[in-house]
This record gives sequence, C-alpha cells and structure tokens, in this order.
Amino acid sequence: MRYAIVSDIHGNFEAFQAVLGHAARNGGFGNIICLGDVVGYGPDPHECVQLLRKHEHLCVAGNHDLAAVGLVDTSAFNPLAASAVQWTSERLDHGDISYLRGLPLTAVVDGFTLAHGSPREPIWEYITSPWAASQNLKHFETPYCLVGHTHVPVIFRFKGAEESDCVAEPFPGDGLLALATERMIINPGGVGQPRDGDPRAAYAVLDIDAKTLRQFRVEYDIALTQEKMLRAGLAAPLIRRLSFGR
Ligand code: ZN
Repeated sequence: MRYAIVSDIHGNFEAFQAVLGHAARNGGFGNIICLGDVVGYGPDPHECVQLLRKHEHLCVAGNHDLAAVGLVDTSAFNPLAASAVQWTSERLDHGDISYLRGLPLTAVVDGFTLAHGSPREPIWEYITSPWAASQNLKHFETPYCLVGHTHVPVIFRFKGAEESDCVAEPFPGDGLLALATERMIINPGGVGQPRDGDPRAAYAVLDIDAKTLRQFRVEYDIALTQEKMLRAGLAAPLIRRLSFGR
C-alpha cells in the first residue's frame, strides 16, 4: 500500500491539487493520510474538503478544522488566524461541517499513529524540539508517529528511550527515509502554507511494502491562490507569507 501523506492544506486548493497530481504521476497512491487543518487561512476550504473526500482517506482533526465548526474557541488563536477561522466558517456547507465535526483526534494505521499536533495533545501541542518529541514517546504505541501543525518538515529519531537519545534531522536531499527499527516522529511539512522558508507545497509518500517514506516539494500556482485570497478580502500578511514559505 502507498499512502499520500498531507498535512495543513489550509484551504489552499491549488497546492492540494498539485501534490495529489504529483503523487499520481510518481507511482500513484491508494489512500490519503491527512494530518489535519484541511481548512483555515486559504481561500477554498469547501473545495479542499470536497477534494479530500473524493479519495479513500483517513484524516485527524486540526485546531483550525475544529475552530471553523465551533468545537474549539478561537481565543487561543492570533487575531489573523481567528479572522480567517471566522471567514472559513461562513464558507462551509452542512456536509463539510458534519464531516469536520466527526474527525477523530488521533488514529492508527499500519504502524503509524496520526495526530495533528502531538499524540499527547493532538490539537494544540507543537513538537518543535527533541525534548518535546521525547515527552510524547510514551503517548503512542506504534513504532512511528506522524504529526503536522508546525508546517515545518522534520524527523525526530529515537536512538533509545532517554530524552537525550532523540535527535532532530531534516529530510535527506532526495527526501527518502528508510523505516528502520528506531521509533520516529515525522512531520512531512505543510501542503498549503509551508513555514520552513521554502514556498513549495510539502507532502510525503509512505510505501508500506518498501518500508520507506519519501518527502517531496511541489511547485504550485501561488499567484492564483494569492489572487483568490485578495478577492476574498483575507488579510494581507496571510497572502504575502505564501510567497516566502514563512
Ligand atoms: Zn496548520
């Protein structure tokens, strides 16, 4: 089985289409694993939910997904994010809303635990350091865990059970990660709003039979997304950041 792993699509239809097209052309995929935040920030929340639901998939809830359907309140969001949540909530139809409301906080598939933020705090925690990754090790039982939320690709590899045994690594140049016996927490990066300084959409393909996970960066029509955001009246900093991947 090959899975396309996507996270933080954030209503960016052009980026989402681009990564699925890329995955289809490069060996294809059976199912999609989605790590949450399908909506929020971007101009096409409804279209992104629809496109995801057209495929066989497993999706966990992100903070923006739950905020857009009123299940978490936006007091913990910065003002720009909160205004985007409000805008998003007005563009979801009944089907989108009941779909997002029904998303689980965590899921397990083929040896991978899925969570948006972390297995310990699925909605809110950002795993940004080996220390934070270590704290989460006892909160999942599978060999590997996939997270999103930071929009920054990274691999946390555990050489042992001690906090000091965890190292943070970037994806190698060719994106190819062999799934060995070491436990790992892996963040594939963000599809719709990358924040690692590379504006291209990030996603990964998990090949269960080959025991590999490969990350890719894909160009998409950033200008078109920005034009839609401008027309929608979304905030200028949210539009600008897509150009820089920050
Ligand atoms: Zn996000």
